[in-house]
This record gives sequence, C-alpha cells and structure tokens, in this order.
Amino acid sequence: MAKELRLEIVTPDRMVLSADVEYVGAPGVLGEFGVLPGHVAFLSALGIGNLFYKKGGRTYYVYVSGGFAEVSNGEKVTILAEVAERAEEIDVERARRAEERARQRISQRQEQLDHARAQAALQRAIARMSCKTHAQSAGTLG
Ligand code: ATP
Repeated sequence: MAKELRLEIVTPDRMVLSADVEYVGAPGVLGEFGVLPGHVAFLSALGIGNLFYKKGGRTYYVYVSGGFAEVSNGEKVTILAEVAERAEEIDVERARRAEERARQRISQRQEQLDHARAQAALQRAIARMSCKTHAQSAGTLG
C-alpha cells in the first residue's frame, strides 16, 4: 500500500498545491473528513473552511471554499476548489475588513439584506483568519 498521498489542490485559476503528504483533513459539507494512504475511493462536496495536511511531521493549512474533493486509488487526493489559498498567501487585513463589512451588514437588519450571503462572507473571513492562526501556531507559514 502507498505510504503517501499525492495531494493536488486546483482552482479555476491555478494550481494551488501539489505535494506528497501523509494525511489530509478537509472541510466536507457534512463535516470534516480525514484521508490516510489506502483510503477507499470517495467523493465529497467541500464547505468553507481549512484543509490541512501532514508532511514530515508538520501540519500545513490551506483555506478552501466550495468545490469537490476526490480520493482515488487510495493514493491521490484531488481538491477542485472554487477558491483556495495557502496560509502564507492569506492577507489577514483584507479578511478583517471583509469580516467587518459582513458584521455591519448583518447588524443593519435591512429588509432587503441577503442574510445568507452576508453570513457566508463572514464565514469566509473567519476561516481565513483561523487558517493563518493555525499555520502560525504550527510554525508552517511558508
Ligand atoms: P473579499 O470581500 O475581501 O473579496 P471574499 O471572501 O468575498 O473576500 P472570495 O470571493 O472568497 O473573496 O475570493 C475572491 C478572490 O480573492 C480569490 O481569488 C481569493 O483567493 C482572493 N481573496 C479573498 N480574500 C483574500 C484574502 N484575505 N487573502 C488573500 N486572497 C484573498
């Protein structure tokens, strides 16, 4: 059985990551799931959150939102994400501003407010900031 997984994270714009890793944890829409080498074939939709992978005893973090994860042949994990950023690419100030805007919109309670949209923007901003914090704590910020 393979000892490693090939992890590829792709968005419509670019290849975000391609690496041989020991473990992948990903934010499925139904909750987080983990993949070790030899995992059965599997397909899941992705939510908004942090994917992490282990390599050489260290844990790395990648923000993802939307798309799909596929595990094939027990040795390949393909993430087709709508948006993805490695922790070191995340602009925390931008995420803070997005959080602020979303909180303001939610607190205004306007009739025409698209509540789900504002909540999703807030969730994206919080997930980006937590991705950075986790990577900082793990010492894997690029
Ligand atoms: P914002 O309101 O700041 O644009 P958003 O959550 O609406 O945030 P998305 O629609 O998720 O942004 O992403 C649009 C593009 O901007 C993507 O290419 C994404 O990688 C990039 N992006 C968004 N926020 C950040 C951030 N804080 N740091 C780095 N890249 C970001």
